[in-house]
Amino acid sequence: MKAAIVTVGDEILIGQIVDTNSAFIAKSLDRIGIEVYEMLSISDDRQHILDTMASLQDKADVVIITGGLGPTKDDVTKKTFCDYFDDELVRNLELEKHVVELIEKAMKRTASQMNKDQALVPSRATILHNAVGTAPGMWMEKGNTVFMSLPGVPYEMKHIVEHEIIPKLVEKYERPYILHKTIMTYGQGESLVAERIENWEDSLPEFIRLAYLPSPGRVRLRLSARGTNEAVLKNTIESETEKLKGLIGDIIVGYDEGETMEVMLGRLLTKKNMTLAAAESCTGGQIAQMLTSVPGSSAYFKGGVVTYATQSKIDVLGVDKTLIGENSVVSAAVAEAMALRAKAIFGADFAVATTGNAGPLKGDADAEVGTVFVAYATPNGVFSERLDLGQPREKVIDRAANKALEKIYQ
Ligand code: ATP
Ligand code: MG
Repeated sequence: MKAAIVTVGDEILIGQIVDTNSAFIAKSLDRIGIEVYEMLSISDDRQHILDTMASLQDKADVVIITGGLGPTKDDVTKKTFCDYFDDELVRNLELEKHVVELIEKAMKRTASQMNKDQALVPSRATILHNAVGTAPGMWMEKGNTVFMSLPGVPYEMKHIVEHEIIPKLVEKYERPYILHKTIMTYGQGESLVAERIENWEDSLPEFIRLAYLPSPGRVRLRLSARGTNEAVLKNTIESETEKLKGLIGDIIVGYDEGETMEVMLGRLLTKKNMTLAAAESCTGGQIAQMLTSVPGSSAYFKGGVVTYATQSKIDVLGVDKTLIGENSVVSAAVAEAMALRAKAIFGADFAVATTGNAGPLKGDADAEVGTVFVAYATPNGVFSERLDLGQPREKVIDRAANKALEKIYQ
């Protein structure tokens, strides 16, 4: 049972818009156990669409095409379907009624001829009702392959996928079960993690696949199991996760996509009934951003300041001017002073502070590019660490912010 997704639109190929439709459709299919083996983005060109359909015929059981369905001349998918299935466009009166009513209701005007032509559909197409737009989806079969065409507008596409396609596919095909489990790790790079679990990975049963999804400071490990016996899949995923815990338990934060460092840190602080504040320089508010991306974070995150210029560290935070003069603004002493001041100003149990040079140029502090000091003011005193994070700028900022949260979590 294999599916392919095709997105049609010159605007995708010139980089004007990002194809998000494929990801949504893939997720929806994955949930019902249909494997997507290919995604293609192609131009608004009749021949290109025809060639693509022909190339997928018999290779895929299900082909979902989005885009190019609108009433404008550049939208050619519908005519292409007629060519491919050797069919002709006929006026569907029920559809026309829907188009006229929708335009009157939503836009408070009468439907134009161009609008009404949305009701022209290939005579043998099964209509996928579009309750939220005027362009209908279509379902047509040739050989053992189902081809579907959907509007490109994400909101309409989603509606049709959820309300029409998924129920129809569930009814038509017997599918295997697919289960996923994501293990969230932090603090070690992909290759180091891979080395630690190499033997275990080699011992995984055939029906379980492992994927590494790295991002700065963290690696998500996704276990995917596929088969016909749901209970077996569940038990195996659980027992393999246990083995993984034995191997790398020290760097695992959570066992679900949503259990990120910032979420788990929030849970920990809530449990301990403790609060946190931040004083950021080179991370420019990223620590505060990560913390506040979690709903309900006001329960434990008191707030933060971005004191980017040296003078602001003095004026806003009240860091001692002579301390900066004696140590340089990028130093452990200044980071620690910032953390202590933030802890006092916000009245928090913990405070974190950053000062560093994210590059690409050497700043006024003369510190090497990539040098960051992160300080932690805790109920038991203050300490700091020096990080050498290299380049480029975005990565330095990302890594420093992640590292800071990690350390507080520990
Ligand atoms: P319309 O009736 O609006 O013409 P359509 O079916 O012809 O609908 P397109 O013209 O291809 O669809 O796309 C309409 C809009 O939907 C695009 O301008 C774009 O903003 C968005 N869109 C199209 N395809 C995608 C995609 N793959 N991912 C994300 N957005 C998309
Ligand atoms: Mg269009």
